[in-house]
Amino acid sequence: MPMTTGDKQDHTLYFQKGPATLTEMSSHDVATALQQTDVILLPFGATEAHGAHLPLGTDSMEAREICRRTALRLAEEGRPVVIGPVIPFGTSNFHLGYPGTVSLKTETLIALIRDICMSLYGGGFRKFVFIHGHDGSLPSMMVGAQNLVAETVDAECMVLNWLTPLSKVYKTIQTSKQSEGHGGEGETARLLVTHPELVHPERSEPFHVSPEEMRKLQGPEHIKTGGAIFYSTRKYPYYYVGTPGLATTETGEKGYTVIVDWLAMMIARDCFYQSD
Ligand SMILES: [Zn+2]
Repeated sequence: MPMTTGDKQDHTLYFQKGPATLTEMSSHDVATALQQTDVILLPFGATEAHGAHLPLGTDSMEAREICRRTALRLAEEGRPVVIGPVIPFGTSNFHLGYPGTVSLKTETLIALIRDICMSLYGGGFRKFVFIHGHDGSLPSMMVGAQNLVAETVDAECMVLNWLTPLSKVYKTIQTSKQSEGHGGEGETARLLVTHPELVHPERSEPFHVSPEEMRKLQGPEHIKTGGAIFYSTRKYPYYYVGTPGLATTETGEKGYTVIVDWLAMMIARDCFYQSD
């Protein structure tokens, strides 16, 4: 029904806490920030199916929250950074069978990274920190990082994969005794912390895969979770893997703490060192 004048219905979907990303800053705000820092965190999101219990933008929301918390931590330590715009698409070809998924070819994502970073470089940023919300984009992010330093004389770029430190302790954080992956207990818990209005674990059933299949999606041997083998993925077995119904905000908070502790430590070490 069309809205009428005086309609008091509240159409708010969810709330977003600051600090602002580049999207909410003015150009003047950025110029002021650049007097304090040349470090920019870039949140790499995705638009891809995560089951009926999570929105398609889950990875974008997670990437933003991870950057938000990391920026706050670094600011407390006297290390200011700017948060770039959330990149809403990634390489999600293995989720394309599920409606709503939008995927960029690796070539497209690499070109997008180039144009975003060269624009920001032109504005004055020199230290680029790529932070993903979707590990499927990691290969392109690494190529994009390498291209950026090849194309400039003084840009620095690092890609930080927090999945590795998180995977090492995840067994002590999660309550599930089975493998939890994309859209499972951990990821659902993290989204529950920030966007409870958009999370519906009651719409999910447990879904698990064999250890052989899981090994190729993520596991100690997979390069994205700390191993030495890269398995490319053709098709995800289902919308998600795990038991989303076990998710709690407590688990989500613990996950964010592990992620942010590690990211803040790495960024402090590699972007704010004093050279003699
Ligand atoms: Zn995700």
